[in-house]
Amino acid sequence: MRNPTLPDELTVQVELPTIMPRSKRRPSVLRTEAQQAVEADPEIPHLTESELIERIQHLRQERNAVILAHNYQLPIIQDLADFVGDSLQLSQQAAKTDAPVIVFCGVHFMAETASILCPDKTVLIPDPEAGCSLASTVTAEEVREWKAKHPDGVVVAYVNTNADVKAEADYCCTSSNAVKVVQAIPEEKEILFLPDMFLGLYVQRMTGRKVHLWLGECHVHAGFRAEDIVRAMQTYPDADLLLHPECGCVSQCMFALAEGELPKERTFVHSTGGMVRHVRQSPTRIHLVATEVGMLHRLKKEAPDKQFIPVKSDAICEYMKTITLPKLYRSLRDMVYEVRVPEAIATRARRAIDRMLEVV
Ligand code: SF4
Repeated sequence: MRNPTLPDELTVQVELPTIMPRSKRRPSVLRTEAQQAVEADPEIPHLTESELIERIQHLRQERNAVILAHNYQLPIIQDLADFVGDSLQLSQQAAKTDAPVIVFCGVHFMAETASILCPDKTVLIPDPEAGCSLASTVTAEEVREWKAKHPDGVVVAYVNTNADVKAEADYCCTSSNAVKVVQAIPEEKEILFLPDMFLGLYVQRMTGRKVHLWLGECHVHAGFRAEDIVRAMQTYPDADLLLHPECGCVSQCMFALAEGELPKERTFVHSTGGMVRHVRQSPTRIHLVATEVGMLHRLKKEAPDKQFIPVKSDAICEYMKTITLPKLYRSLRDMVYEVRVPEAIATRARRAIDRMLEVV
């Protein structure tokens, strides 16, 4: 049976860029301003976990706030959220909520996207230093220079970008719809895909289109190696393998698939939302998960009778984990930190996001 997450033709030859990607060192976000404020707070350090949860429950009602959490958030944050999802699902939830306040438990560019889609709402992030190593590999100025070199190019920006970068894009995309977005662009157009080179390579393989790649990567997903994936599949030969397209090994895994080292019928390239749908539907009991480890909590909740094994147990996004219970409480109590995108940038960025939402 056809596996829609893999190209029909798997060739042994895999094109890899010859230039090294832009990598960021593992971030140090332990002593953020929000963390210091929580520690210095006269009340918060004295509250137990259950007292914090009780206060959060009370405040979310009082403020008429909705709590949105990304799949990579700490389990306790996911459990408190009104909605847990991937970037696209969270954007869609933000766009349709009636709540006047959105507390965004995710990273900063996601809260910006919510603010762009809901300019009349108050969007809060519990720690504004929750950044993204991938988003920080490209600036708006660099996109303008890239466009100047390819004046007929269509810029497709992965949603993991800052608002001013989105404002330079023609389309946004997420890992769940990047293939569809590129397929919706007329064949004769050159595509400038940014910032994730691994997702861009995957899109290139799936669509057969010539894609110019921005050589950015996420420090978490870039750490996955094809040999670890192959070894894990050898250990659990009956498992389904769920690979995120940002993983640095996806291209090498295509090579391993073509060589027969990985089974095509058990290897699936999915966004985090796609992984959730997969485990709900698949009869397979064991799943190897190649993405940030926060995803395992979500998958276990979705399919408690199944077993989930991380391919890389230290694949932890420190930025996502800066959002903690005390900071979530402080965010609701003090209405901090508001994320607001200047209207001139928001209008242009919204156009690229809306184009994406029209495609999916
Ligand atoms: S996992 Fe990677 S892409 Fe996702 S928020 Fe963290 S640094 Fe950014």
